[in-house]
Amino acid sequence: MPAPNIDTIVSLAKRRGFVFPSSEVYGGLGSAWDYGPLGVELCNNVKQAWWRWLVYERDDIEGIDSSIILNRLVWKYSGHEATFNDWLIDCRKCKGRFRADKIADNKCPSCGASDWTEARPFNTMLQTKMGAVADDDPAALAYLRPETAQGIFINFLNVQTTMRRKLPFGIAQVGKSFRNEVTPGNFILRTREFEQMEMEYFVSPTADHWNLVDYWVEQYLEWFGSLGLNRDNLYLYEVPEDERAHYSKRTVDIMYRYFPEREKPWEELMGIAWRTDFDLSAHSKNKLDAEGKRINPDSTEDLSYFDEPTKQRFYPHVLEPAAGVNRTVLAIMMDAYSERTNDKGETRVILKLSPQLAPIKAAILPLAKNKAEIVGMAKAIKRSLQPVLRAVYDDTGGIGKLYARQDEIGTPFCITVDHQSLEDEAVTVRDRDTWEQERIKVSDLAEHLQKRLKPYPVPTPESI
Ligand code: ATP
Repeated sequence: MPAPNIDTIVSLAKRRGFVFPSSEVYGGLGSAWDYGPLGVELCNNVKQAWWRWLVYERDDIEGIDSSIILNRLVWKYSGHEATFNDWLIDCRKCKGRFRADKIADNKCPSCGASDWTEARPFNTMLQTKMGAVADDDPAALAYLRPETAQGIFINFLNVQTTMRRKLPFGIAQVGKSFRNEVTPGNFILRTREFEQMEMEYFVSPTADHWNLVDYWVEQYLEWFGSLGLNRDNLYLYEVPEDERAHYSKRTVDIMYRYFPEREKPWEELMGIAWRTDFDLSAHSKNKLDAEGKRINPDSTEDLSYFDEPTKQRFYPHVLEPAAGVNRTVLAIMMDAYSERTNDKGETRVILKLSPQLAPIKAAILPLAKNKAEIVGMAKAIKRSLQPVLRAVYDDTGGIGKLYARQDEIGTPFCITVDHQSLEDEAVTVRDRDTWEQERIKVSDLAEHLQKRLKPYPVPTPESI
């Protein structure tokens, strides 16, 4: 049973230290969120799982970390300055401002009226200023990146030559992106500052691009499955031409059921786009337009590729799976949410996170916190486990309360140290999902837990 709505996760996230509203002491900052002690661990675990899966387990992908602020010309030639727009409309009755494409049934979401201004474009790149220059100096204008992808394109040759790569190969990057969203909201689903996991996969212009989009869709469906997402809560959307970005010849969005309570429950989790050779050409000094003029007189490099077997030089085409860290985390929390009634008739929340993603893998709980030997043994077990897995010691409540708290934050194992442990050098290991308990020798504990923590089967990368 996944969470019935996003609000259930908002309250769990705040109550248990995953996500807090940002700048709360000053009344908040429109839809900005801060990740707490457990939230930062969950995000890191998602990013690490992604990086391991693409960069380590495959042999055809490199990783980079480029700047957030790039030369403004990058955004001119990528087309973002001219076209990275949302269409804005204002409600004449209540003066509310909305994204035109998100209005259902032509009705204002605030007041229900249908009296709109004309739609007009609004560039959603967030601006800043670089350097110690006058406020009105136009040369100081810079943008916070709205996607991580451009940092990859402008480094294509650097990576290809230093790592001696031949097509096909990919470059992955994870990091913050910024968009001045017209209507942020729905918790961490749509914010102005967010994190992306993007990968640009470079192939020959004659490759079967259409099918390669399907290939990456399949790979990501399997990966999401390995993170514990139920396939029934994912839906594929073939994006029609009039909704696609200017550079895309085909895009498939993987949607998640973020709104199970609504008639239209789906919202984008990630997109997989065939970006053609648009970006590499656009940043290259030698690319000519139909009239033989350089399309980019500012570039000092040519980002083309020489293909040894065919002795041809060309601009590679690109397949781009672009996923959001925050939307992935939200989907994972919603899918992992479950409730269970104990034998006293109390309803407990259990967050059934895949063990590889759980912020804490094992909680060590002493059964008697005023007995020095038990506390000492429990703390020693925590210290001995820490080098191999994330463990915590907790003695801040009765055992029932401590179990409930760990269930709610998704800790796969609770380890209880009791009087008997002092004699038989064994502890009780309690399973989060079944509540079953097992007695395990302390000397075997690390190995026992590691075996059971093994990630859900990760899809074997299939080469192209
Ligand atoms: P949407 O249509 O929902 O605005 P998009 O199609 O503009 O999204 P992309 O440009 O394809 O999004 O970005 C890739 C991914 O980055 C998205 O699938 C999403 O996971 C994430 N993302 C984009 N914008 C935001 C945002 N404002 N807040 C959180 N995540 C975002």
